[in-house]
Amino acid sequence: MRPVVVVHGGAGQWRVDERRRQEVKKTLADAISEGLLAAERGSALDAVVAAVEYMERSGVFNAGYGSVYAIDGRVYLDAGVMDGRTKRAGAVAAVEHVKSAVRLARYVLENTDHVIISGEGAKLLATKAGLLDSAHRFYTEEKTQRFQELLQEAMQGRWHYKKVVRLFGDTVGAVAVDRDGNLAAATSTGGVWLKWPGRIGDSPIPGAGFWAENGVAAFSATGIGEVIIMSMLSLRARDEFLKTGEISKALGNAVAYATEAYGPDTVGIIGVDHRGNPAYAYNTAAMARGWGKQGEIYVDL
Ligand code: ASP
Repeated sequence: MRPVVVVHGGAGQWRVDERRRQEVKKTLADAISEGLLAAERGSALDAVVAAVEYMERSGVFNAGYGSVYAIDGRVYLDAGVMDGRTKRAGAVAAVEHVKSAVRLARYVLENTDHVIISGEGAKLLATKAGLLDSAHRFYTEEKTQRFQELLQEAMQGRWHYKKVVRLFGDTVGAVAVDRDGNLAAATSTGGVWLKWPGRIGDSPIPGAGFWAENGVAAFSATGIGEVIIMSMLSLRARDEFLKTGEISKALGNAVAYATEAYGPDTVGIIGVDHRGNPAYAYNTAAMARGWGKQGEIYVDL
């Protein structure tokens, strides 16, 4: 079969000007091309890591160098990856100064007996893997200014975690199927603005932020991490796919559950099934997303 790569750049409000819209769409399209190239040469796992790493490095999204700040003004990364062939996952949580959190997640998958490694332990592993980066690449004047504004609002009591939809968004993820029918999923994020240091979102949690299973489908989620964890959104979508046999319906049903249980403006998810059908669903105003196969790329925001 022909490899298929599906990506997202986060669900949220996406009230952006035309310049930013074009930048986001171009980065998604380039990430899909990177993923397809990796799939041609290797596996679905190579494809999702390549696509997500491209988006992390771009600085365009809330992942990698573009990650948002926690309430202490620091950047902590979460990422996870799953190989549908082995049904094994690797993930890192609340880790600082890592060149590519998704590559470190893959390192956990391939070089340890663990699934999730957090904080200092993950940083130690990044040293071993040659994935440490200097701190300053994660901090920009623009982000620092936004951080000051949000902190000001928070201190004036005009801010409530659950209500502030605009504090999440722009997380990145990818799912893919390769020519042998193998499936894989990856998700990477800086989390949400002003998160508590040590807060772990859905992105490094299998079943919540991502899932991949050969013969079934692969998923990557975005939105309020706490809602995605409590909905087990990716595993729910997988169960819905087994029930309905339709990837679009499965994603729609999983999102409908989250909406009913936790309200609108909370989640989004992409998926690809074992036949290579791409799909997405969200209950937010918008979601940056796209999919591609050889000679064909579609992106939207
Ligand atoms: N799910 C991410 C988190 O809560 C945020 C996002 O999707 O933008 O960490």
